Parts: sequence; structure tokens; C-alpha cells
Amino acid sequence: MVHIKRVELTNFKSFGGTTSVPLRPEFTVISGPNGSGKSNILDALLFCLGLSSSKGMRAGRLPDLVNTNQISKSRSTVEASVTVTFDLSDYDASELDDEPIISNVVVDEVEESSTTEEQFLEETEEDAEERVLQEQQEEEIKNRREQIRAKPGEEWSVTRRLRVTKQGTYSSSYYINGISSNATELHEELSNIRINPEGYNVVLQGDVTNIISMKSRERREI
Ligand code: ATP
Ligand code: MG
Repeated sequence: MVHIKRVELTNFKSFGGTTSVPLRPEFTVISGPNGSGKSNILDALLFCLGLSSSKGMRAGRLPDLVNTNQISKSRSTVEASVTVTFDLSDYDASELDDEPIISNVVVDEVEESSTTEEQFLEETEEDAEERVLQEQQEEEIKNRREQIRAKPGEEWSVTRRLRVTKQGTYSSSYYINGISSNATELHEELSNIRINPEGYNVVLQGDVTNIISMKSRERREI
């Protein structure tokens, strides 16, 4: 089983500054009075892993997630971020259905660049330069891909950062293992470790009551 080892929240909802929440492999209980921020930790998970679209994260708009004290203190842009660190020491990659997806473009170019010696001789200096450049780009894409992959036996981290300007415009970005990534790449990696937006990886406050009071047919669908 893959497990989340740590959730770090910075200026996220009720958490001003940085708070690191360690999670034990088997079971962790977080207790506290009403309104003390327990569910906000789950919101942080949904936000960071981009699972918020199908699950109810309790915020009208993304900027509402930034700690309000920070907003009133700051004169310029404010930033909230969440990092979720996974422990993949027990991750069995044979659970994977699919080969890692490598962009078609790369595959095409690999075939194209397998020049025979003869072709190589005919190559002009310009061609050669272009080919080297292309090979370098392919190598970079491969390396990057390798660096963001969730691999057995290693830690794997996802960070999402949200920036809100004084004017109220905002932007958000993802980082996998510290490398700037997009939502598609994140979802690809997450689905490899069996985390899906439609799944019940995160059971929210009220979900259990809903499931209990469902008709049996609806419950079977889950
Ligand atoms: P309960 O036991 O009732 O479920 P809880 O511990 O789950 O409570 P949360 O819902 O996590 O509590 O926290 C709610 C608190 O978070 C409220 O007090 C609210 O004011 C605060 N909060 C929400 N958004 C922000 C924000 N952007 N900045 C500061 N505080 C916020
Ligand atoms: Mg709660």
C-alpha cells in the first residue's frame, strides 16, 4: 500500500505560516474542537492533488483558500501552498496496468533519428546540428519524465501553489518532485498509484452518513 507520509500547509485556510502534519502508515487520528481546522487538512489534500473538481472542497473560489490573516497583512501578492509527500516503499509497480505513457512525438523522433551510416555521411553540417539538438531535446523530455514518475521505494511529492494578487486575480501551479508540471501529468501519475478524482480515496465529512442512507442500488454503484 502506498501511503501519504506528510501534508505541509503554508498559508492555507486556517493555517497561517507553515504547518507540517505527519501521517502514520496505518492510522492517524486528528482531534480538535469544532472549527479548529481538521477538515481544512482534507481540503488541502484535495486542493494539492487536484481532486477538488468532482469532490466538494469547501471554498467558493480558489482565492478563498488563502489564509485571510495573510491577505490582510500583505500589500502585494499572497501565496498559499500545499505539499503532499507519499511513501512508495510498499508500492508494487506490477500493479500498473499500463506502460508509462511517452509522448508520441518522442517515439516518432526516435525512429526517425535511427540513421544508417550511409545517411549519416550525406548529412550536412546543418542537418547534424539539428539532429543533435533534437536528440538533446528528446533526452531532456525523457529525463524530466523520469524525474516526475512515482517509483517504487521512493518518496514522491506533489506541491500546488496558489498566488493571489491584490487585484484578486490568481494563478495556480503544480510541481511534482519539485519540477513544474501540469494537471494532466499529475493525474497520470496519481492514477498509477490508484488515486482517482472519482474514487473514494478521500472520504469527506458527511460521506459516510450519505452512504448509509443511500438506497442499496446507489450504494452498489459506489
Ligand atoms: P468540525 O469539527 O466542526 O468539523 P473542523 O476542525 O473540521 O471542524 P474546519 O472546517 O477544518 O474545522 O475549519 C473551519 C475553520 O477554518 C473556520 O473557523 C474558518 O474560519 C477557518 N477558515 C476557513 N477558511 C479560512 C481562510 N481562508 N483563512 C482563515 N481561516 C479560514
Ligand atoms: Mg470538519
